Amino acid sequence: MERRRRITDLTREEIATFVATHGGKPFHAAQIARWVFGRGVTDPAGMTDLGRALRDALTQSFDVTPPAVTWNCDEASTTEKALLKLSDSGGDNVEAVLIMEGERTTACISSQAGCPVACVFCASGALGLKRNLTRGEILDQFLAVRSRAESHGRRVSNIVVMGMGEPLLNYEAVLSALDTIHDPEGGGIGARHITISTVGVAKGMQRLLEEGRPFTLAFSLHAPNDALRAELVPFKAAMSIDAMVAAARAWLKDTGREATFEYVMLAGVNAEQEHARELVRRLKGVRGTVNLIPYNENPGFTWRRPSPAAVDMFAEILRAGGLKVSVRKRKGHRILAACGQLRLQALNPGRV
Ligand code: SF4
Repeated sequence: MERRRRITDLTREEIATFVATHGGKPFHAAQIARWVFGRGVTDPAGMTDLGRALRDALTQSFDVTPPAVTWNCDEASTTEKALLKLSDSGGDNVEAVLIMEGERTTACISSQAGCPVACVFCASGALGLKRNLTRGEILDQFLAVRSRAESHGRRVSNIVVMGMGEPLLNYEAVLSALDTIHDPEGGGIGARHITISTVGVAKGMQRLLEEGRPFTLAFSLHAPNDALRAELVPFKAAMSIDAMVAAARAWLKDTGREATFEYVMLAGVNAEQEHARELVRRLKGVRGTVNLIPYNENPGFTWRRPSPAAVDMFAEILRAGGLKVSVRKRKGHRILAACGQLRLQALNPGRV
């Protein structure tokens, strides 16, 4: 079954063209864009200041029904995870997460259904890549999380493209969606509060540098040397650590933005003191923050979370070596909030 284009797939320019070909005026295009991306109203029936003819034309031309969303949360948690049903005949799901922490409200969104990178500790990589998400499917996640946040009286302040998938392998759709999330009449989220997390894909990285969009970059490092990294992130096209360090420097020079280096800590694998010392040597002189992420244990995998003392020691060695460090708090483990776990469970209940 061929998928219909979703109304959220349309860019502002495409909305303007559609309106013009259906006899509307430019201000009608602005109204539609505000309804869809500013207020999250995708069904033209709810666009009360729009004429009947344009509403009918939109309904006939596009899929205007919001995706079915299942929320997983527990009362004690400040993390809530959504499974959004994709409209393919296979009916796969995609994950998005709402994280409410102090003043900050973050939407973590996915760029692909599944992931081809296959990091050994990640549930998303376990089933490989199904397909790229469209711009509209990425924006649907943002709209769903924003609406959920609003139901808690909160406003989404930050976006991280850190869910399922490698964003730079779906460059056009991801960047187009982020432009709308950044647009003051769309999501209205400042560029500095939007983070793209990547394992380092040279072609996409090059394009990002050329286009110089001022988003924040997070490199998924996970190891202090290329040999161990190749075991944990077995994606042949991933950039080397030196190439990522060079890209982080270029990004800082071009955009004034410091990069973050994400480091999932696995007990007995990459979380020993010798790894911390090696990481200090590799990142010497780089301006940026190392974000330590103690692994969220998952019944489907044998990896273990390091002890709090081991995490503290690792962080201390990095700080003593001149690096800025943050340690991610344990969040959402009760609702399977590690990336891809919910989708994997939905596809294969025995696995997780
Ligand atoms: S951690 Fe990210 S890049 Fe690695 S397999 Fe999972 S989704 Fe893909």
